[in-house]
Amino acid sequence: METKKVKKLISFVLPAYNEEKNIPQMFDDIKAVISSLENKYRYEIIFINDGSSDNSWAEIIATTQKDNGVKAINLSRNFGHQSALEAGIENAMGDAVIMLDCDGQHPVEIIEKLIEKWESGFKIVNTIRKDTEGVSRFKKITAKFFYSLINRFSDTKIIPGSADFRLIDRIVADTIKKLPEQNKFYRGLINWVGFPTGYVEYNAKDRRFGKTSYTLKRMYKFAVDGLTGFSNFPLTIAKYIGLMIMAVGTLTLLSMLLLTLIGSSHFPIWVYLIVLVFLLNGLQFIVLWFIGNYIGRIFNQQRQRPNYIISEKINF
Ligand code: UDP
Ligand code: MG
Repeated sequence: METKKVKKLISFVLPAYNEEKNIPQMFDDIKAVISSLENKYRYEIIFINDGSSDNSWAEIIATTQKDNGVKAINLSRNFGHQSALEAGIENAMGDAVIMLDCDGQHPVEIIEKLIEKWESGFKIVNTIRKDTEGVSRFKKITAKFFYSLINRFSDTKIIPGSADFRLIDRIVADTIKKLPEQNKFYRGLINWVGFPTGYVEYNAKDRRFGKTSYTLKRMYKFAVDGLTGFSNFPLTIAKYIGLMIMAVGTLTLLSMLLLTLIGSSHFPIWVYLIVLVFLLNGLQFIVLWFIGNYIGRIFNQQRQRPNYIISEKINF
């Protein structure tokens, strides 16, 4: 009996927060890409309305009526970009899941390249923003600072200029679905899970309509999630402070004793007291460092990330 080969399913995941004007255009753009791929793939387009206060949800519903490949998820309130992505990824059925912004900044023209890379064997295809004409100076500087910080202190490296515009294979989607941690930071997590990773470059465009919802406050939260999610370095800062104070204090005390012994100077008792208090302070920092170690262990434990991820098994 001849088995008919089923076409692979591609899921598009688009989080939307106040994007009423961008949604119809986004749908048209993706449809245009799909029409050139339709003989090889099936598709679903998932819009996640992240508690928008404009007409985004009505626009999304209108889109579902135009095309039954469009699926819609309405969150009860605004949960933030990363959580909206999570809702989309968890509900996507595709053999590959492509996530991109809803505002036109992520060019759909490179989607074919993402799919080609995936077909050539990459399980993750990240994108790298090459030219940033659509990105403000302020964002460029803060982003640069953030990526250098995270890449210095964390084991999971994140390429500067990466955005939440990428393709992931089903196996990667299933793996990150199983991670129970709160406040998922996808830019880190997707690199953390491993798997062969490919890259495609693109030029960022200007947002079509509306304005960015990454305010300073949100950028701060995003950065803190990224840093604390992938680095326990801040917990060990007390170590350096403590060791430094102890070293300086001990050296001071020793030289004072030495000078007294050889009789060249004499120090009043309050000087000794000051040095003693200084040393005690250093001791406190050392104890904080120990406590930090335990907190780090508890933190690693409660995230419940697996100790390994298998990508293939043979002859089992
Ligand atoms: N977004 C979201 N929830 C939010 C904020 C943003 O779903 O709370 C979506 C937004 O609609 C867009 C993407 O996440 O599709 C990126 O947001 P934005 O364009 O505001 O960020 P920027 O591109 O400026 O970093
Ligand atoms: Mg944007």
